[in-house]
Amino acid sequence: MKSVRVPLSLQQAVMRTMRQKLVQASHFLQETFPEPNVTYRQRGTIAGSARLQGWEIRLNPVLLIENQQAFIDEVLPHELAHLLAYHQFGKVAPHGKEWRFIMETVLKVPANRTHQFSVHSVRNKIFTYCCRCRQHELTIRQHNKILRGKSCYICRQCGEKLILLEQIE
Ligand SMILES: [Zn+2]
Ligand SMILES: [Zn+2]
Repeated sequence: MKSVRVPLSLQQAVMRTMRQKLVQASHFLQETFPEPNVTYRQRGTIAGSARLQGWEIRLNPVLLIENQQAFIDEVLPHELAHLLAYHQFGKVAPHGKEWRFIMETVLKVPANRTHQFSVHSVRNKIFTYCCRCRQHELTIRQHNKILRGKSCYICRQCGEKLILLEQIE
């Protein structure tokens, strides 16, 4: 899938909020935390994810660009709280009481588990195909190649040609 470029000013806004939240956490927990590595590689309808071992926060570039500061204010603390909960408490339930404590008491943000952003534009770029064994998600580029007869995709597992199942709008 073609990667979406996040404007520099928006990346700076992300880092600004992250540093604010990190300072807040440091004050409260009396500890310093390394700055997480923020990447813009989250795909699909998921807003973001936290890679605990890699100390990385992945953000969805399309949803970030569409929702700007609202996205930053909601998604960034959410993912940061996963990292901090892991740092402080080890492996705990993803949205359990440790994570809620970091969100509400330490970072002072509402502990929402899911986002409410419109996923229309990230959804309609995905085309669901199927073979004999499972479903495959193809990008609009791959889908268009198939329509033009330029490509034909074969499932690596069952060796069958992929056929269009449905078009998610
Ligand atoms: Zn989460
Ligand atoms: Zn297959």
